[in-house]
Order: sequence, then C-alpha cells, then structure tokens
Amino acid sequence: MEIAYQYRLRPTKSQETQMETWLNLLRMQYNYRLAERFKWWDENRCPINACPLVCSIAPPTEQPEYYGQKRDLVQTKAKFPEYTDIYSGVLQDCIGRVEKTFDRFLKADSSGRRSGRPRFKQRSRYRSFTYPQIKASCVKGKHITLPKIGDVKVILHRPIPDGFVIKTCTVVHKADGWYVTLSLHGTCFKSAEPPNAVPQDDTVPTVSPDVNQENAVGIDVGLKDFLVTSDNEVVPIPQFARSSEKRRKLLNKALSRKPKKGTKRRQKAGKRLSKHYQKVARQRKDFHYKVANWLVRKYDIIAHEDLNIKGLARTRLSKSILDAGWGEFLTIVIRKAASAGGITVAVNPNGTTQQCSSCGHKVPKDLSVRWHSCLCGVSLSRDHNAAINVLNSAEGHPVLKAHRLLRVSRNG
Ligand SMILES: [Zn+2]
Repeated sequence: MEIAYQYRLRPTKSQETQMETWLNLLRMQYNYRLAERFKWWDENRCPINACPLVCSIAPPTEQPEYYGQKRDLVQTKAKFPEYTDIYSGVLQDCIGRVEKTFDRFLKADSSGRRSGRPRFKQRSRYRSFTYPQIKASCVKGKHITLPKIGDVKVILHRPIPDGFVIKTCTVVHKADGWYVTLSLHGTCFKSAEPPNAVPQDDTVPTVSPDVNQENAVGIDVGLKDFLVTSDNEVVPIPQFARSSEKRRKLLNKALSRKPKKGTKRRQKAGKRLSKHYQKVARQRKDFHYKVANWLVRKYDIIAHEDLNIKGLARTRLSKSILDAGWGEFLTIVIRKAASAGGITVAVNPNGTTQQCSSCGHKVPKDLSVRWHSCLCGVSLSRDHNAAINVLNSAEGHPVLKAHRLLRVSRNG
C-alpha cells in the first residue's frame, strides 16, 4: 500500500534561500526543456518531403526525449555551474516532469482525455522539487536529511507508521511556508498472522470478510445540500463556502487596486489572497474528511454515482459550485473505505433523479422541481429519491457479486 504523509518544515534562513534558488533554477530548466520539445515539434511536424512552404526547413535534429534531455544535463552544468549545486536526482526529476506533461498533451489517457498545451511556468507556478529516491532513514528525531541541503528541522506531528518505508520525498513551498511530502510504501500484515508471515499483495486493498451486505447506503449530491443519503440524512453545505466567497472578492479587489507590479504593497496583497485560498482549501478538506469518516464508520457498503462516465461528469460539474469538491470528496471516501475494509460501488448515474425509487417508473422533472411524487403513492424529496436509486442499482453490482462469491468460497 502506498500513502503520503505531509509534515511542516522549519528551514533556517540560509536553507530557505537555497531552496528558493533551487526552485528558480529548476523552473528555468523546466521551461528550457519544454521549449526544446516545442521547437522540435514546430520544425518536424511533417516529413520533409511533404513540408508546406510556410514551415521552416531545418536540418533534421534528434527528437528531444527523456533520456536525451537527461544526458544533456551535463552541458547545462558545464554552461551554468550553479546547476551543479542541485542534487542530481532532483534535477533529473525536473526532466521527468517535462516528459510527463508533454506526454499527457500528445497522448490521451485510457478514458480518452488529453490535457492542454503545457505552459511555461512562472515563479508562482513552480513550487516543489522531488527527490525520486531517498534513504529510508532520512528522518531522525526532529530533523530530515535532504541531500545537498542538509538537516532541516521538521515538525513530526504524527509518527511515520510502523511497517512503512520512505520512498520519495517532495519539498513544497506553500503560501504559509515549507512542507515535505513523504511517500510511504508499506507491507501490511494481518494481525492474526504470525509476524514472519509472507506479506500480502500490498497494492490490492483487502476487503474485510465480515462486511455486512445489509449495512449499505447510497449517496447523492444535491443542489441545495452537500449530500443526501438513502436513509434521508442530509449533510448541508458548510457555511464557510459562502462567507469565504465574500472575503475572496474583497481581497481580489484590494489586489487589483495596487496596479504597480513588483511593489511591496502588491506583493503583500497577493500573499493575503493566496493565504485565503489556502485556508478555504484546508477548511474544505477538513470537512470532506469528517463527512467521509462518518460514512465509513456507519456503513460497510457505500454506493455513489460514477463520476468517470464521460459527459455526465461534465454536466454534473456545472450544477453547483461545490461539485468540483465532490470528486475530491469521493476519492477520500473510496480510500478511507478501502483502508477500513469496506466496499465502495460506483453506479451508472443515468436516470437516478428521474426514476421512481419504489416502482421504477420515470417521473420527468427539471432542476427546479425539488420534490418527487409518483402515481404509485411515493412522495419524498428529489435528492433522497436519487440516493435510494443509487443504492438500488448497486445491488447485484459485479463488485458486490464478486465479494459474495469470495465469502462463500472462504466459508466453504
Ligand atoms: Zn412510483
């Protein structure tokens, strides 16, 4: 299993300047390598014998790719000796980032999505660097040893869990300071097994065998509320979502009133705004975790709408301001449920709002209709009806069937 823990760093003044210099150099390297790739594409988009006249005819050059660009780092270091101060793994990871964004731009992923043209990064958009490999013993006491930077004070607000090994380490500069994200790789043992047992396949989360099939819930996002369960429990949209919007506007206005770029006053206003964004993001995350924990503790099986189904996700997104957070919330629920031994089921969102949850008839209604009443006598709120539909369509879902078979074979 792989998890990530984030800790706050307390670098000294000189460490801070060093890390800032690194970020800036890495950013320039990133932009340079990106430009190298763009240039090659501009010049070699079509074979030379089929070249339109408007395109420049350049001698064919080698296409920039990951390993070539990595090898070329030697030249960079020779020309700009300041790059030798950067740990080589960190510098190579920068090339890896270019490769990744460029690949996502050229090739679609499995669901047919491509990301847009990679952008050159401003100072404010390049905020982190990664050690792709780091010693497992880098955290000692109150310090973390970062190669070429040294021992940096770290606030270990929670210990690194037993049985987990540090694999990579990313240093991030956020609005309120420096943080380190450690990706931890662990092998999990079941407590009943002897300590010298063979570790289980650690990439597949294990479903605990005592999942109660009856203890299931369907959840649906509403316009009015954050979430409605099939037991008609309503989680309202938190208050901070609205009040923060007001303050955001205020701070934005204050920033735009300071037109001179690069002045102290403008920098301060910008910092206030980014701190505000950070605060709201943290509030939202906290809220998501609390709701997710509540659900996972209460239910064994959680059915939700599948957001990955193309097109539907897009119409969903336009529905409410908080919907963007809905995907984030779902990933938290899925992860939390997996680590607690529960099951999450993604169901097709088609028709969940229109169908009657009791007789299955279609009761067409547009967005403004908040109540579902059917000829069969059922009358409940629109979102509650949808949540029950989500739960109903989870029954007989392949995930649950597989689980049932697994249980039968284990018991027998
Ligand atoms: Zn009905």
